[in-house]
Amino acid sequence: MTESTETGLNLDPREAEAFDRLASRWWDPQGDSRPLHDMNGPRVEWIRAHARVDGARLVDIGCGGGLLSEAMARAGAEVTGIDMAERPLTVARLHQVESGLDIDYRQSTAEQLAEAHPGEFDVVCCMEMLEHVPDPASVVAACLKLSRPGGKLFFSTINRTPLAWGMAIVGGEYVLNLLPRGTHRYDRLIRPSELSGFIRNAGGRVKKIEGVRYNPFSRTVTIGGAPRVNYLLHAEKPAPSTEA
Ligand code: SAH
Repeated sequence: MTESTETGLNLDPREAEAFDRLASRWWDPQGDSRPLHDMNGPRVEWIRAHARVDGARLVDIGCGGGLLSEAMARAGAEVTGIDMAERPLTVARLHQVESGLDIDYRQSTAEQLAEAHPGEFDVVCCMEMLEHVPDPASVVAACLKLSRPGGKLFFSTINRTPLAWGMAIVGGEYVLNLLPRGTHRYDRLIRPSELSGFIRNAGGRVKKIEGVRYNPFSRTVTIGGAPRVNYLLHAEKPAPSTEA
C-alpha cells in the first residue's frame, strides 16, 4: 500500500513542489490558501474548546506557511511547526518575525520528529495534510508517538465520498477555482472510519468527529454535523491510569 519514494521518506515530491508554488501567496486571504484562511478561526476555536492550549507544548504537522501555528502561538502555546516543503517554511519563518512570534519551524517529516522527540507534546495538530502523503497511517502513528500520554490530538482532512469528490475537487478546483487544479487526488481522500482505524491501531482513542461545512460564497465555516466532505477529528492518547 505504501508508495515508497526515492528518498525513502513518507513524502510525495510532487506534493511538496505544488505547495512550494503556493508559498508566496500563503498569507493572502484572497489567494490560493483562501479556504485555509476562512477555516482557521473556527478550527482554532474548536481546538481550544477541546484542549488547553495556553502553556501547552504543541506541534503542527504539515504547518505550511504557518496559519495554524501562529494562531496557536498567539493563544499561548509553545509551537513547533514542521513541513517538508521548503518555500512554505521560509514564508512561515519570515511571517512570524512580522507577527513578533517565536515558533520553532523545522523541515522534517512527522516520522523523523517522532523518532527524535517521542512523548514530548501536549497537543498534536495535523490539519489538511494527511490527504497529501503516500502513507497517512504512518503519519498518524507518528502523531501518537509525539503525544505525551494524556495528550490531545487534532486532525482534519477530506472524506472519500462521491459528494466530497463533487464539492471539494470538481467544485473547489474546477468550477470555483478556489484551489489550484490537482490539489486533491480522490484516491488519497480518507474516510472517517479509516482515520479512526489508523488512530486506534496506533493506540489512540477517538473522542469526536465533526463535519466542517464551507460556504465559499459567504466564506462562512460551520463545524458540526456529519463528516460528509471536510471534517475534524479529536483524539487522545490514553494516560496509563485510564488504560483498560
Ligand atoms: N496544515 C496547514 C497547511 C495545509 S497544506 C494548514 O492547515 O493551514 C498541506 C501541507 O502539508 C503543505 O504545506 C505541504 O507541504 C505539507 N506536506 C505534504 N506532505 C508532507 C509530508 N510528508 N511531511 C510534512 N509536510 C507535508
